[in-house]
Amino acid sequence: DLVIEIVDGRLPWSSSNPIIERLRLARQRPALKILNKSDLADPKLSRVWLDWFKAQDGVDAILMGEEDKKASAARLPALCSKLVPHRTGEVKPVRALILGIPNVGKSTLMNHLARRKIANVADTPGVTKSQQRIELQNGMILYDTPGLLWPKVHDENSGYRLAMAGSIGTNAYDQVDVAWFAIETLRERYPQALLDRYGLKGYVDDVEAMFAMIAKRRGAVLSGGRIDEQKAAELILTDFRSGALGRITLETPDDITEPPVDGEPEADVAEGGQ
Ligand code: GDP
Repeated sequence: DLVIEIVDGRLPWSSSNPIIERLRLARQRPALKILNKSDLADPKLSRVWLDWFKAQDGVDAILMGEEDKKASAARLPALCSKLVPHRTGEVKPVRALILGIPNVGKSTLMNHLARRKIANVADTPGVTKSQQRIELQNGMILYDTPGLLWPKVHDENSGYRLAMAGSIGTNAYDQVDVAWFAIETLRERYPQALLDRYGLKGYVDDVEAMFAMIAKRRGAVLSGGRIDEQKAAELILTDFRSGALGRITLETPDDITEPPVDGEPEADVAEGGQ
């Protein structure tokens, strides 16, 4: 009846599944977007994103963070019912598909939501074996899905943001590359964050030099004085992910780019999906 999508509040657009969005619109299903990890996101931009999502037809959105997880989870069944008012009672319980990219916090939320596991979904072709059907206290049925990314991330910056958030496996990208991207993004959007965290006086022009300065500050240096690039990159990314760099949102609605018109992967899935 509806889709509950958990997105990363620091990159709400880049972490939204474009394939599901197209299927959802084609089948006219409403969506509840959960902007999770909002305790790590920039509160001002979280409001902007919340309004942006809510302005879309058939979409409701909420912020969710570490501290309010339990209370927000408790609100979900009522919010879902409101989106599908025709589904009521035991005969027509609300059925929702819940999804989100890896590491977005889906398991954490499910642990708050689930009362009783009913059954694993049958081993149907095209349906992953680990999909689970879970009944909530109010009778609502949630179909859980494994954390998934889509086959192709069209926007290169989105790919970098997803890597920064830790939602792409470390084998699939170069951490130093992503750390450079992090420095560039922060310099542009939160210039004070890097200076405060690493005790730097100001910016130098090129990112490589900035990276080296941070590495030295944090002792990411090999014997002989060379920069330990891997260690420095990990430090920067860990600091972003843990919130040590402050509450940061990596994108605004102005950063949204349209995928190419004849984008292959979406077309395939949209046509073949059930
Ligand atoms: P999953 O891969 O989507 O199932 O994600 P998990 O539920 O395993 O969460 C991934 C990491 O994010 C864990 O370290 C969680 O503790 C953390 N996490 C989940 N929700 C939040 C949140 O709202 N705020 C913060 N700061 N961390 C969260």
